Amino acid sequence: MVSTKGYASQTATAPLAPISFDRRDPLPTDVQIEILFCGVCHSDLHTARGEWGATKFPCVPGHEIVGRITKVGAKVENFREGELAAVGCMVDSCHSCVHCREGLEQFCSNGATFTYNSDDPHTGGHTFGGYSKSVAVDEQFVLRVSENADLAATAPLLCAGITTYSPLKRWKVAAGQKVGVVGLGGLGHMGVKFAAAFGGEVTLFTTSPEKAQDARRFGASEVVVSKNKEEMEKQANSFDFILDTVSAKHDLNAYLALLKRDGTLCLVGAAPEPSPVAAFSLIAPRRQLVGSLIGGIAETQEMLDFCAERGITCEVEMIGIDKINEAYERMLKSDVKYRFVIDMASLK
Ligand code: NAP
Ligand code: ZN
Repeated sequence: MVSTKGYASQTATAPLAPISFDRRDPLPTDVQIEILFCGVCHSDLHTARGEWGATKFPCVPGHEIVGRITKVGAKVENFREGELAAVGCMVDSCHSCVHCREGLEQFCSNGATFTYNSDDPHTGGHTFGGYSKSVAVDEQFVLRVSENADLAATAPLLCAGITTYSPLKRWKVAAGQKVGVVGLGGLGHMGVKFAAAFGGEVTLFTTSPEKAQDARRFGASEVVVSKNKEEMEKQANSFDFILDTVSAKHDLNAYLALLKRDGTLCLVGAAPEPSPVAAFSLIAPRRQLVGSLIGGIAETQEMLDFCAERGITCEVEMIGIDKINEAYERMLKSDVKYRFVIDMASLK
């Protein structure tokens, strides 16, 4: 075992605090990574605070990991010591079920091993995430990062990036379409950037009017303050696709009403409480309500390469790990511009 340090919540109501714990020694197919940066996702907060239920404590969150390889197992083929590497929301899956064979490991029939809060088949306990100094991961779940990349601004691509890229591709967002993004946080700001990069005409829906200028800088051509009923009604029946990244309960019917015939509202935001949907929001004019979960490993690499080619990065605010609890409070107030990233050198 390799002893490492991190930050964990011990109960749903306790703040995150330092913890020491053991990682496995690298297996023959493992890559061992010294973590340099880890993004702070709202899912980390939902999990650390037990908001989705079933949190395994102690909980070390973090699934937007970028670092440098310190060791590789004897059977590792694609990575070498000293290279940069990244890890997202998953660290393993069965590799053989129908979903894994299609590159959709996140839906593994035998249960993907998520980066934190999953049973760990190797240690017998549960997995610990990236708010820590090091991690050992099977090479098939390790992503490649360019030496030219801004590493802190790359880290959030591993969740916020792939979670917005994947549904925009899946539902074929393209030039000439009217695309909405709801919420300008970690996911939302990447949703705006990708939807614009794919050629969509992008409208941001926000509860924070002061974010309008930033949204335009990221590629939105219009900004609608969602609390303003009249402004919302003006947008009725006009959208091809809306990506909803909101982390708390809100009225889905108000967004369904904005879709054209056959338009799609895609939920990626994972509010802990259910939201009622009226049948008439969907049946006329034949609208669709769908969801999407992160993205597979091959698509995550495709997204990283797309970002490197197109110069797309996340807007980040760097923090020391001792500021993580304040960062969570600010995230709850929608006060993030637009992703906190932990500089892991701050973890002594
Ligand atoms: P975030 O940075 O906190 O952004 C969420 C944004 O939603 C806020 O900035 C705010 O934007 C808006 N918002 C917050 N509370 C709201 C409310 N009560 N009503 C309306 N709008 C509100 O969070 P994130 O990291 O982007 O994550 C967003 C959600 O996606 C979380 O639930 C997270 O767990 C989930 N998630 C899902 C996946 C997946 O695979 N499906 C992956 C990662 C994360 P404005 O200020 O612009 O209104
Ligand atoms: Zn995440």
